[in-house]
Amino acid sequence: MVRDSIVGLWGGDGERESGTLNLLSVGERKEAMQGVRHGGCNCGAVRLEVRGEPMRAGLCHCLTCRKETGAPFMAFAVWDQSQVSVAGDTRSWTQTTDHRHFCPSCGSSLFGAHDADSEVEVRLGCFDEAPTDLNPEYELWISRREHWLSLVADAAQHTRSSLFGHINAQ
Ligand SMILES: [Zn+2]
Ligand SMILES: [Zn+2]
Repeated sequence: MVRDSIVGLWGGDGERESGTLNLLSVGERKEAMQGVRHGGCNCGAVRLEVRGEPMRAGLCHCLTCRKETGAPFMAFAVWDQSQVSVAGDTRSWTQTTDHRHFCPSCGSSLFGAHDADSEVEVRLGCFDEAPTDLNPEYELWISRREHWLSLVADAAQHTRSSLFGHINAQ
């Protein structure tokens, strides 16, 4: 299910000025000043834009996040849905009240949304910039952390989680 409220179209590459190699367009300079970040899936069918700084960023080691991403943990940052635009169709898997969106063509994990609030949990791995400038402030479900991973310095450590989307994980 795609939540229409966070799905919208915006001007994509077609609106960029051409012939200005090595120079940012007026639009891009404006975006950089506003803290706009771009991301998307591997095949390009889904593009994502977030505006402004996230409310928080974290890591989760729970089984649900591991299986969603196929990775030993999932990293994310959270924005209000008013700051997030998604172009392209996604599909989602819902565990209880959380909807984990992915690209139906290439399977890339993209973001999570919840019934109970307007937060969008964007997967750090879907940003075009790597590494990002976003640092996890907390870790969830550290009881599931792989033994060869060390904890993130200065990040709060939670054995489990009280946050939506990770409550019913195991
Ligand atoms: Zn894709
Ligand atoms: Zn989780």
